[in-house]
Amino acid sequence: MSRQTGGANRPAFAVETELVVAGRDPQRYDGFVNTPIVRGSTVLSPTVADLEGHAGRYTYGRRGNPTLEGLEQAMCVLEGGAGVVLTPSGLSAVSIGLLSVLQAGDHLLMVDTCYHPTRRICDVVLKRYGIETTYYDPLAGAGIEQLIRPNTRAIFLEAPGSQSFEMQDIPAIVEVAQRRGIVTLMDNTWATPLFFRPHDAGVDISIQAGTKYISGHSDINIGIISANAAQFDRVKGTYGDLGLTIAPEDAFLAARGLRTLAVRLARHQQSALTIAHWLAGRPEVARVLHPGLPDDPGHAVWKRDFKGASGLFSLILKPVSKASVAAMLDHLALFGMGYSWGGFESLIIPFDCRSSRTATHWEPGGPTLRLHIGLEDPADLIADLEQGFARLRAADDAG
Ligand SMILES: *Cc1c(COP(=O)(O)O)cnc(C)c1O
Repeated sequence: MSRQTGGANRPAFAVETELVVAGRDPQRYDGFVNTPIVRGSTVLSPTVADLEGHAGRYTYGRRGNPTLEGLEQAMCVLEGGAGVVLTPSGLSAVSIGLLSVLQAGDHLLMVDTCYHPTRRICDVVLKRYGIETTYYDPLAGAGIEQLIRPNTRAIFLEAPGSQSFEMQDIPAIVEVAQRRGIVTLMDNTWATPLFFRPHDAGVDISIQAGTKYISGHSDINIGIISANAAQFDRVKGTYGDLGLTIAPEDAFLAARGLRTLAVRLARHQQSALTIAHWLAGRPEVARVLHPGLPDDPGHAVWKRDFKGASGLFSLILKPVSKASVAAMLDHLALFGMGYSWGGFESLIIPFDCRSSRTATHWEPGGPTLRLHIGLEDPADLIADLEQGFARLRAADDAG
C-alpha cells in the first residue's frame, strides 16, 4: 500500500516539483489541497465477502491510513526506493531498520561516528538478542572488508559523522557490501534525499529522522524508513509485526513541512556556509568541521557524492575554560540551546563525543560546539556570535 503509485501514470518531475505534488490527491478529498487528517482504528466493510476478501482500500487503522499513505508516497518518490514506512521517531526508524535485517547470531558493522543513541540500540538491545556489533572507522572505505566475518549480515553508515562531521566513502563501502552479499543501511538525516539519495548509491535501507528537516518546524518526532525492492517486504513485515503506526496529525505536519523542504534547505545551506566561513576566520576558533568548506578533510568526498550541505556543523574552539564557553553561550539572543535540529531556528550546544568513540580516537584539543543555522538573517546570527565571542574573551581574560 505504501508503494509508489504515481510513477507509472504520470511523468517524473524535478525534485522541487515532486515536493509540491507528490502524495496529494485533491480530487479524492472534494478539491481540498492537502490530504486531511483521517483518524480511526475501525474501518467498516459492507458485506461479509468484502470483509473476508479485504476488498476495501483500508482494513484497520494500524494497517493503513490515508494521511500516512500520502506522506509515504511522497517520501517514496523522493527516496526512489520500493516503499516507505513511517515510525514514531528517528531513533525507532534506526531500530526497526536494524531489526528488519538482523537475527540472533548475526554480526553488524556500525560506523563509529553514528548518532549516539544508535550505539545503545547495538550495545543494549541487539546484544540482548544475540547480535554482535563491531564499530568501524568512518574513514575505512574499502578497507571495511577486513572487518567482515562469515556472519556479517549488515553494514550501517551515517555521513557526515554525528557531531564530528567525517565523510564516508559510501560507494566504496557499498561495493564491498554488495560483493559480499551484505545489507547496507544509512542514516541520511543530515543530507535528506535532496542532497544525497542512498538508494541511488546502492544502499538498501535509507533512514531519516523526519523530526529534523522533513518536518522542519521543531514540533514533532517522526522517523522515515525507505527500502529498495530487495528489503522492503522485510522492513514492512517487521514494522507490521511489531504493531507500529504513527498518529495522523504527525504525518500531516511532516507532509506540510515537506512541501517547503527545497527552499528551506537552500537557505539553511547558504547561511550555514556563510557563517562557517566567518567562523573559520575567527581568532577564537581552531577549526570548523563542515564538509562543505574546501579545506575540510571530507570535502572531496562530499563534493563527489553529495549535492549540497544542510545547516548543521561543528567547531573546535582554541583552549579556553568551561566557564568562558558558558559566558559565550548563556546570553546568546538568537541561538537557542537545545537538542535536535532541522527546524527554522538556530541552535548551539557544547558537546563532547569522546565517550561515543570506540574504534577511533577523538581528541579535539579544545571545547567543541555544534551549531544549527536556521532561517534568520545570517548577519543577525553573526552579530549574536560576535557578542558571544566578546563575552568568551572577557571571561577568559578575567579567569
Ligand atoms: C535526531 C536524530 C535521530 C533520532 O531522531 P529522533 O526523532 O530524535 O528519535 C537519528 N539520527 C540522527 C542523525 C539524528 O540527528
